[in-house]
Amino acid sequence: MYKLIDGREMAKQTRIAIKKEIETLDGTPKLVVVLVGDDPASHVYVRNKEKFAGRVGMDSEVIRLPEETSEDELLSLVEKLNNDSSVNGILVQFPVPKHISSNKIMNTISPDKDVDGLNQINIGKLVAGVEGLTPCTPTGIIEMIKSTGIEISGKNAVVVGRSLLVGKPVAMMLLQENATVTLCHSRTKDLAGEIKRADIVVAAVGIPNFVRGDMIKEGAVVIDVGINQVGEKLVGDVEFETAVKKASHITPVPRGVGPMTIAMLLNNTLLAYKAQSQK
Ligand code: NDP
Repeated sequence: MYKLIDGREMAKQTRIAIKKEIETLDGTPKLVVVLVGDDPASHVYVRNKEKFAGRVGMDSEVIRLPEETSEDELLSLVEKLNNDSSVNGILVQFPVPKHISSNKIMNTISPDKDVDGLNQINIGKLVAGVEGLTPCTPTGIIEMIKSTGIEISGKNAVVVGRSLLVGKPVAMMLLQENATVTLCHSRTKDLAGEIKRADIVVAAVGIPNFVRGDMIKEGAVVIDVGINQVGEKLVGDVEFETAVKKASHITPVPRGVGPMTIAMLLNNTLLAYKAQSQK
């Protein structure tokens, strides 16, 4: 019988702990989210970030800019926020419109305020094993695996998908937890064979129901990162109905990795505030 890893409940507990800690601080951490353009999914994500920041007692501000905002305008805004000592965390919601380089934006955000953990300084720190702000989704995934009580050290972990946002950093974090990590992608020859050897599977592919139960080893921990809209429904990258017949622990979609991603963003903002207060 499988156990569900309840991301919504874990996120709630995390927010309670963050709120408690904020109440003990002298000041209030502040998160600024910048949203450029009209992508409907991004508007939903940003509203949620704002809502939960408020619930934990954080200050938050959303700066909404029109689609035609130039790269230079956005870069100057980021610089202004970097230099504003009342702002502890900066997040530019991706994707940005095509005429703006997301890479340039990501790497202009001050590493101390980079609560998405995606700029090259913070990714470099992650690879080097030095403390820094770490990407939200992968950080949440590691917490979720640890919540099962299963020891990561020595396990075979297979990550499917090698994006900068999820696959690469989560593979690096699993390695730091002493798993033996295999990072798969679209050119992987025998994907089913790789997944079959995994004690821990992280699926971050963006294809609905891509990983099926027959690929999964008996007793594996399965983390489904995918969020795919299929008709009216949100569907993960793992075929839940067949995967639960094999998995010991599995995350649902929705209410799995998604809520933990936001909780980790709030936690990063708190960490950024504390690090900046010590300077
Ligand atoms: P990307 O599109 O950036 O990356 C997808 C990865 O999957 C690529 O590395 C690609 O390989 C790999 N891939 C594609 N097709 C195959 C295949 N047939 N076999 C093996 N590998 C394949 O996606 P993201 O990492 O940004 O997101 C993945 C999913 O996670 C999406 O559904 C997204 O919505 C969701 N997501 C959820 C979050 C959450 O909070 N829950 C946060 C972020 C993302 P290659 O590199 O070779 O092209």
